[in-house]
Amino acid sequence: MADILIKNGYILTMDSEKPEIIKNCVISIENGIINYVGPENSGPKKSGYVIDAKGCVVMPGLSNTHTHMGMTLFRGFADDMKLNDWLENKIWPAEACLKESDVKAGSDLACLEMIKSGTTACCDMYFHMDETAKSVKESGMRAALSYGMINFNDEEKGKRELDISKKFVRNWNGKENGKITAMYGPHSPVTCSIELLEKVKEQAQKDNVKIHIHVLETENELNTMKENHGMCSVHYLDKIDFWGPDILAAHCIWMSDRDIELFGKKQVNVSHVPLSNMKLASGIAEIGKMMKANVPVSIGTDGCASNNNLNLFEEIKISSLIQKIHLNDPTALPAYDSIAMATRNGGKVIDEKTGIIKPGFKADIILLDLKKPHMTPNKTEYNNVVSHIAYSVSGTDVKTVIIDGKIVMEDRIVKTLDEQKVLENAENAAYELFERKNEK
Ligand SMILES: [Zn+2]
Repeated sequence: MADILIKNGYILTMDSEKPEIIKNCVISIENGIINYVGPENSGPKKSGYVIDAKGCVVMPGLSNTHTHMGMTLFRGFADDMKLNDWLENKIWPAEACLKESDVKAGSDLACLEMIKSGTTACCDMYFHMDETAKSVKESGMRAALSYGMINFNDEEKGKRELDISKKFVRNWNGKENGKITAMYGPHSPVTCSIELLEKVKEQAQKDNVKIHIHVLETENELNTMKENHGMCSVHYLDKIDFWGPDILAAHCIWMSDRDIELFGKKQVNVSHVPLSNMKLASGIAEIGKMMKANVPVSIGTDGCASNNNLNLFEEIKISSLIQKIHLNDPTALPAYDSIAMATRNGGKVIDEKTGIIKPGFKADIILLDLKKPHMTPNKTEYNNVVSHIAYSVSGTDVKTVIIDGKIVMEDRIVKTLDEQKVLENAENAAYELFERKNEK
């Protein structure tokens, strides 16, 4: 029996080492799980809802492993500025005026945008995280959420931050049929003390959850760590045995070859955030070297203040292109490798049973419409559809989205959220937020 049967599509399972599109096969979903991929006549005899995917690619939903949904209201608020000026004079003062309801409005908008551009799961770190968790719940998305902790060297503040995090983990980890999980989110090695980081690691192991942290996003972080501790963030945190497969490290730009080797050995998950890194001129992460060192790399968008959107398909394209220009080698990071970072690698960080279309895996699946000028030709054996997905697709080509076996968007109509209301609320919340900030 199939609750949902997807037929007639070009299937990209992401289950093989080489790019491979399967034709003339169906995907069957039962109780939220993929239970069959193969020829229709050998599949389930009875099926409930049938999706005709003719003229579409059927592929795993994308996983955005580094974002700040609550910042979506900051889209277009501060651009083309130096990092410190941007942070100190624009972002931090605006964040100081953010209310819970603003984070809810921003997170609703983020979920809507992600679903409409094919992202089915994400890792988020911010504050007022109960509001973000409510948005994720209502939207039907999958997410690993964390409260962003900052204490500098204030141990009392560190204690309070950890308490907020512990409560968040207790309230949300494993909710919504396991679609919502929690992580600990110490902001970065320069904004958190080593004492706090040590406690976070211990608590995360106790609670059996992962840790999300920014690492070596700026040259300034590298220099500060060297000045204060005589070594970089990676080696400083290695002293407390911080690194492991339970860590999600975002950015990782200013890494030495030895740092990369250590991340490979310890299997630390890296979230590559190329667009935000380009926009803030933070630098280029050594993704080619990381892959050679067997570091698991996924992709994130960062928040809308520094991207300015949550369309992961753009990051797939840029990931490949930026390595090519950086290494002066057009063979670097081929299309399929970037798609793998955004699907199976990202999926593995959030839920081991996502990111691949395969029996036994959770049904987080998207359909891309190929009947578009920029996706044509796609029927001949000479025109590679996998390269279309990396280099030519647009987020608006996403036609249908299934998360945990539920149809969340069909023919571009989102079923879980009231699109007009989400847009209106975001407009109103943004206007009031920036008016409040100006009055200060
Ligand atoms: Zn970030």
